[in-house]
Amino acid sequence: MANNDEEAVGETIFGRMLTGQEPSRFIYEDEQCVAFDDINPTAPVHFLVIPRKPIRQLADATEEDQLLLGHLLLVGNRIAREQKRMAADGYRVVINSGHNGFQTIYHLHLHFIGGRQLGWPFG
Ligand code: AMP
Repeated sequence: MANNDEEAVGETIFGRMLTGQEPSRFIYEDEQCVAFDDINPTAPVHFLVIPRKPIRQLADATEEDQLLLGHLLLVGNRIAREQKRMAADGYRVVINSGHNGFQTIYHLHLHFIGGRQLGWPFG
């Protein structure tokens, strides 16, 4: 399967959703991040949380991003608990970073996945 390692910051589909150039249905937004359901869910619940700041991948995050990264996790947890009602049964958070992580969209995003028991380990 191809990947888009060369996709530039600000030119990703997620970047265009943030600027309104691409249609989007946010399930949550604040001044630092937005969240939306994954277009190709791998489980009954699968949503993404992305920062407004165009960090390409987790590997590019710095100390400056420490509070932002914590915020993304807590926002996802709140959505999992309050909107998706899956916190009690558990869920998984995934961040694919770079080529070997099979990242396909180079705007940092956290996958929140649940609604059924997931297998482990995955490939
Ligand atoms: P990753 O492989 O971690 O880069 O994951 C990218 C994710 O973005 C995949 O799960 C895709 O299904 C999802 N995706 C791609 N385009 C859209 C879109 N327009 N809206 C919502 N999710 C999308």
